[in-house]
Amino acid sequence: MRSKNKGITDDLNDGSNSRRSFLKKAAAATIAMARADILTFASESSVTEKEAVSEVPWYRRVTRWGQTNITEKDAAHYDIAWWRKHWKNTETQGVIINAGGIVAYYPSKIPLHRQAQFLEGRDLFGDLCRAAHEDGLAVFARMDSSSAHEEFYKAHPDWFAIDGNGNPHKSGKLYRSCVNGPYYNEYIPSVLKEVSDIYHPEGFTDNSWSGLGRDTFCYCENCKKSFHDKTGNEIPLTKNWNDPVYRAWIKWNYGRRLEIWDLNNRATKSAGGKDCIWSGMNSGSISEQARSFRDYKEICSRADIIMLDSQSRSNAGGFQQNADTGKLIHGLLGWDKLIPESMAMYQMGTPTFRLASKPVPEARMWMIEGIEGGIQPWWHFVGASHEDRRIYRTPGPIFRWHKANEAFLVNRSPVATVGVVWSQQNMDFFGRDDSDQLVDLPWRGITQALIRARIPYLPVHADHIDRDAKQLSTLILPNLGAITDSQIASIKRFVGGGGGLFATGESSLYNEWGDRRSDYALSDLFGAHHPGQEASASTPAGRGGSGEALHTYLRLTPELRKNVDGPQTGLEPEAVGVRHPALKGFEETDIIPFGGLLDPIKTNSGATVLLTFIPQFPIFPPETAWMRVPKTDIPGLIVNTLPEGGRVAFMPADLDRQFGRYNLPDHGDLLANLIRWVSKDNLPLKVECAGLVDCIIYHQQGRLILHLTNLTSAGTWRQPVDEFIPIGPVKVGIRLMKDIQGRNLNLLVSGNKIQSVQDNGWIHFTINSILDHEVVVIT
Ligand SMILES: [Zn+2]
Repeated sequence: MRSKNKGITDDLNDGSNSRRSFLKKAAAATIAMARADILTFASESSVTEKEAVSEVPWYRRVTRWGQTNITEKDAAHYDIAWWRKHWKNTETQGVIINAGGIVAYYPSKIPLHRQAQFLEGRDLFGDLCRAAHEDGLAVFARMDSSSAHEEFYKAHPDWFAIDGNGNPHKSGKLYRSCVNGPYYNEYIPSVLKEVSDIYHPEGFTDNSWSGLGRDTFCYCENCKKSFHDKTGNEIPLTKNWNDPVYRAWIKWNYGRRLEIWDLNNRATKSAGGKDCIWSGMNSGSISEQARSFRDYKEICSRADIIMLDSQSRSNAGGFQQNADTGKLIHGLLGWDKLIPESMAMYQMGTPTFRLASKPVPEARMWMIEGIEGGIQPWWHFVGASHEDRRIYRTPGPIFRWHKANEAFLVNRSPVATVGVVWSQQNMDFFGRDDSDQLVDLPWRGITQALIRARIPYLPVHADHIDRDAKQLSTLILPNLGAITDSQIASIKRFVGGGGGLFATGESSLYNEWGDRRSDYALSDLFGAHHPGQEASASTPAGRGGSGEALHTYLRLTPELRKNVDGPQTGLEPEAVGVRHPALKGFEETDIIPFGGLLDPIKTNSGATVLLTFIPQFPIFPPETAWMRVPKTDIPGLIVNTLPEGGRVAFMPADLDRQFGRYNLPDHGDLLANLIRWVSKDNLPLKVECAGLVDCIIYHQQGRLILHLTNLTSAGTWRQPVDEFIPIGPVKVGIRLMKDIQGRNLNLLVSGNKIQSVQDNGWIHFTINSILDHEVVVIT
């Protein structure tokens, strides 16, 4: 007799009892079940796929999406039959269809809900929604709550945002609706109800739902009253990050966006049932979320699915931005939920051409990096007919690959020992109006150094350090200036437990409001103290640095020049010391380029200083390019080993920001060296090959899944990529986990099976060639 505890699959082997049992369990287990699991269960049982699938909410099982962002002109000639074929050819399971908001694509009965030009009575949304449902696709009805036409404004001027002079805020010819008025409280919910009642879409999304951003004040009567009721203050007239009223205005705005999230969900669920969710679109950029008052952590605590509007890369961040974003959002949302992402098939970016096909390799790489980071693909065209027909060929191959390998691409846990810490509060109150310099660039420098060194990492929210600590050997604070007292306590607990810490720049020097503390809150771990005075005149822009590279250097200590070949410099040290292991690879130099400025800080006795500052001297004319002050004792890097065993590196020199800006290999190498030293080499992966490769490991029960994305191309740092350049052989070593023997290795892209060698809990194998990406499944 079999045990009753053996799980769902046992119950699938006999008749109707097991069928009911399965359906019951499936309903209970919706959180953990992906579509792939459902299909497996269904195929092994008398349960039909349809029955099994119907038990799992659509937003947990629809993993491939498509969207023709409908232009008003499309209303005249949208060729639904052709698009149904496209849905089928691309294995698309869900579609985003423009419904209402600025214009309606159906015959709405709501006054002032303007019909799309050229619609002429056609029910385009309804026709598309019915076609999608007939084909078994889920429908996200797309709204745009941001604005309306002039006749709406004239009918309800008090529903729209007003500037300090009493004039309406406009975007082109459209009037911006105010989030605190009846437009959001009554009008949008009424449209949601009408669409739900007539067409029964599975859910709703919204292109632009969060109203005016941080750079714009609204002084309409509704805003004035709400702010006064909640805070007792008047809406500030100017931006002033040090003003408590301005800070209250920021918090009030964040709170209102969460109210809108909840309000719209109440509207759609009361109209369409509990699974008729509303999930407005969100950005892949934390600074963009901050500027839009969208609190990602709080939104993810509410959301069943994140509809990600992040259509293409920036040159500075590369394709790897997308996997970074996927990991970061999953860290908030959970790895059991889905994050479809709108991916431009048209030439989005710099420059943008809405009707021209993006080069296929460029579009494909963004999709591949997204999938690597746990994002689900969503093809996006603007308009429903194109004279550049190449655009239709782009999504098919990767979508079909995704379908074939879906079981390995969802419901998995990341395997990494390095956590890079972030928070939106830091973005707001430390980054303020200079978040690109203060927050984004240090982040990019650290994460790029990790990718370059093939070290798997996870973004960790500062409030989740205790939650995630178990799997981590190291925390990195990339110029994480503003940290709350409880986040500081979490970091201290982590290091007290033997964990490693690598902090840069002004990490922990500010409280949660961005007010300067008297000293680094982590000074005892850093072995260093801030002198306490305000930013000196030598530090342009105080917290941010100058924004361009200055002619400064860092001196590696101790110097080695006596040991190596080269002419005498006149600066020979009296004795030759032994270098710290973190400086490995720099034996042929005693200096590295820096680019920033440093103020003196106090170090604890016994602290080990590995880099010192060499002040600025002229670049031009060349005759003047000699060091005026070859040596200072201003520390650029301090390392400590704590009594509990944890290693700490504190780098006041902003090499992460410099690397984010300029890609100098010395900076990347030193950052990677420090991360390896701090982590005591507790890293789960070693990859040897030429090229830039983004490596991410996941665990599913009984198997490891390793993504290797080849970022090496002629367009690595300047879009577009128009041809792939293969790399290989790629030698891989990966640390096994308890439930994985490591005997079978399947390559999901090439289709090959390969051999491995086991060694002391690791396996080693070689992949001969990788064109754009490879995914290795190890069981
Ligand atoms: Zn307002």
